[in-house]
Amino acid sequence: MGSTREQIAFDVLFVGGGPANLAGALHLMELAKAKGQQLEVALIEKGDAMGAHALSGAVLNPRALQELMPDYRGAGCPIEKDVRGDALYFLTGRGHYRMPFVPKHMRNEGCHIISLSRFVRWLAHLAEGVGVNIFAGFAGTEVLYGEDGKTVVGVRTGDKGLGKDGKAKSNFEPGIDVLAKVTVFGEGARGSLVGSAAKRLNIFAGRVHQTYETGIKEVIQLPEKNDFAGSDANDLHMFGYPLGLSTHGGGFVYEMADNRVALGLLTALSYQAPMLDLYEEFMRFKGHPFVRGIIRGGRVMEQGARVVGSGGYFTVPKLAVNGAMFVGATASMFNAPSLKGIHTSMKSGMLAAETIMESISRDNFKEETLLQYQDLFESSWLKQEVYVGRNYAQAASKKGPLKLFHLGLQYITDGRGVFEKMSALKDSKTLKPVTPEAFDRSERRYGHHDYDSTLFVDKLTGVYLSKTHHLEDQPCHLVVHDPHLCVTTCYETYRSPCTRFCPGNVYEIEVDETTQEKRLKLNPSNCLHCKTCDIKDPYANITWTCPEGGDGPGYTVL
Ligand code: SF4
Repeated sequence: MGSTREQIAFDVLFVGGGPANLAGALHLMELAKAKGQQLEVALIEKGDAMGAHALSGAVLNPRALQELMPDYRGAGCPIEKDVRGDALYFLTGRGHYRMPFVPKHMRNEGCHIISLSRFVRWLAHLAEGVGVNIFAGFAGTEVLYGEDGKTVVGVRTGDKGLGKDGKAKSNFEPGIDVLAKVTVFGEGARGSLVGSAAKRLNIFAGRVHQTYETGIKEVIQLPEKNDFAGSDANDLHMFGYPLGLSTHGGGFVYEMADNRVALGLLTALSYQAPMLDLYEEFMRFKGHPFVRGIIRGGRVMEQGARVVGSGGYFTVPKLAVNGAMFVGATASMFNAPSLKGIHTSMKSGMLAAETIMESISRDNFKEETLLQYQDLFESSWLKQEVYVGRNYAQAASKKGPLKLFHLGLQYITDGRGVFEKMSALKDSKTLKPVTPEAFDRSERRYGHHDYDSTLFVDKLTGVYLSKTHHLEDQPCHLVVHDPHLCVTTCYETYRSPCTRFCPGNVYEIEVDETTQEKRLKLNPSNCLHCKTCDIKDPYANITWTCPEGGDGPGYTVL
């Protein structure tokens, strides 16, 4: 390794403060206590507080939580509402039809509606209580390897106090090398550390590539008198309008405590239309008469965005290498047909913890020992849940009636469909070149909202409501490899889709009034850390890297 930086060593290091790692850390401490063993365990999180970057729908299937903590209610689990009924609606341009039944995977009886941000804070509080060292505001920016170049020995946290030019400022603090016998990566979907280390570690060899959906979500405060609180269903899903049949995705409205609702739209990044604007589609969804009726008189409290990896079982990587394991959304632990990833992530963290205990008792942290986690995964209910969605996103990426055919067949065959292993194009490869007609259509489709700064807010107000903050004077964390390409080939072919798929208004194309030359302007301080640009850019011209630790959204109720 040859580093002269400050080093700090633990038995186990969890990288990322989501439900997978927190459940893993809690379970590990419980197992160690049962064996009378003392462990030094640390968890680092890039957000400035636990839960600040956590965003999900969120309906929680309590299966894993029950295993971790049978009396989770008694332990103060922050449940917003129990699901009292599900409903699935098909939305047309102005109308809505309640489907006569809800598909089996989407029935949420016995589940709870939660705020992931609050849930994560609660888990973190419990983890600290049993001795886990939690460091929020520390972003892992580099994977550290042993002398063989293949054994993971920890991560380096990002330097603090670098200026825009990359030079140290007076408050410069070098990152720390956090070393561990086992490092558990639970960075969420499209984790940047795993992304950069994947090639060296060869964990995705032979796997189908991942597919993603971007979710934009709000929590809305409703007036005290509202119809939703007394309705028979408080877990609503919608499809049809505004995305139609050619773009996969759909909306949701969940009831929360204190007359609030969680509302969001997920759009699969396999979409083809270059002029599609994710934020505008979200606004169209909100503006549909049925949805508008639910949220009438409300006020947006918080807004945010995040991608989910929906690729299913065949996108699950090799789950362990020498010195490291992969859990949660990083490892594609998602039940795609049921739209749930929290309980699956938690279970993966818990299975990893069981393997870590075994490796500690053998004092062996090599791949052959840590891969016991893969065996545990394969023989658990977790595998069955991830397996059922093995072809779901791939089928959903088909267009028009073909999509309905594949999805219907999967429903009947429990996820198999026509082929046991379906693949789909990479999300960065699906855009079609823009045509004058597509350009005109988008002009008619978008830009007709009456933003009122209360219930319908524009992108910049949305960024404000995400409580996103970044130090201005630091190296830009969005690396655009060839800015010239953005205003030439990409503009001419796709009309710069980054200006429409980014929900944070980070990318703008400016035109010089005198020379008419175009220029890409970046507003990195608006970045919601959703990772859409890292995935969807058609030339893979954008790489998302971690800004200074503590920067980013400040979610509290999402
Ligand atoms: Fe998301 Fe990228 Fe925009 Fe940041 S810059 S909000 S990661 S699309």
